[in-house]
Amino acid sequence: MLDLANLERTALEAALEERGHKRFHARQIFGWIYKRGVTDLAAMTDLSQKLRATLAGEFSLSTPAIVAREKSIDGTEKFLLRLEDGRQIESVFIPDTPSMTFCISTQVGCAMACAFCLTGKMGLVRNLTAGEIAGQVRVLAGALDMRDRKFNIVLMGMGEPLHNYDETMRALRMLNDEHGLGMSPRRVTLSTVGLLPALEKMAHEPIMPNLAISLHAPTDGLRGELVPLNKKYGVAEIIAACKRFPLTRRSRITFEYVLLAGVNDSQDDARKLAKLLSGLKSKVNIIPLNAAPGIQFERPSDSAINQFAQILAERGLVVSVRKSRGRDIRAACGQLIVEGQQKSPGQRLAVALH
Ligand code: SAH
Repeated sequence: MLDLANLERTALEAALEERGHKRFHARQIFGWIYKRGVTDLAAMTDLSQKLRATLAGEFSLSTPAIVAREKSIDGTEKFLLRLEDGRQIESVFIPDTPSMTFCISTQVGCAMACAFCLTGKMGLVRNLTAGEIAGQVRVLAGALDMRDRKFNIVLMGMGEPLHNYDETMRALRMLNDEHGLGMSPRRVTLSTVGLLPALEKMAHEPIMPNLAISLHAPTDGLRGELVPLNKKYGVAEIIAACKRFPLTRRSRITFEYVLLAGVNDSQDDARKLAKLLSGLKSKVNIIPLNAAPGIQFERPSDSAINQFAQILAERGLVVSVRKSRGRDIRAACGQLIVEGQQKSPGQRLAVALH
């Protein structure tokens, strides 16, 4: 059985044709799945009953199941979703930023092991399929009654999207399809620690999301301590790749900078960061650490945060300080973790990268 949730429209057209059906049914099926949120072939009532019965023997349609849903006092909602194999992931809805944002996962766990991130502590369990990535969007849009509303997607949930490149890009194509959600890539932001080969590849994608780089430090010495992957792809290489990255006239690359008290928040760090980013169409998003048990860093004081931002702004950078959302339900950046998952071979990769 082929899973409809995991097929791009072109692949579905080919699969239909191979089974002796008309290609154009793919458009109808996409409309049902993405626009109307149907999770069962039987409900696709503009296909004849006979066709529905035949298709039901040839295709399945998997949809992540909502296991738990928690709402923060600030309106942020965290969804715990169960996948077909029983693995669980989290997705977050962040309202009024001022736009509506879905924060979507790309892996179960993560192999990057950044020092301050709880998801990193899980290690990698497995990659999500494109169907599971796009499925989170289907589920949230349905549960929040937002199928007819505009929203943004940030690939900032669990996982490193460029470490699951093909499935992530396939998911973006599925979400972009005009017969489905028609999600513009300008409404999607992909955040990465800087897996360079994949980043270079993305620079040539027809459907290219906005880019956010998790930088966190201006020098290799410091960044290497926080982001293990920096030992492979250093700061200068990442900045050079960003300079080559194709940007449309109005777009900028976001640089995320988790601010850690006494670690990367000095005035000198701010000055070095400003120098590093000079000449780049950038904006800096300062993320004061979201503390969590098991994370040995501390959040800087508000005045230290402001001072850091001030130094960047004085040097002409566009700066914002990310207001952390959903901290009371552990839905904030770096706090997504699903407990009680079995260890998997992929988790050894996290150790290897460490
Ligand atoms: N792996 C990708 C996608 C995850 S995005 C990436 O790293 O970019 C999640 C963002 O939250 C990243 O910028 C990450 O560095 C940040 N983050 C992780 N742990 C955090 C914490 N404890 N407090 C604040 N931000 C954190």
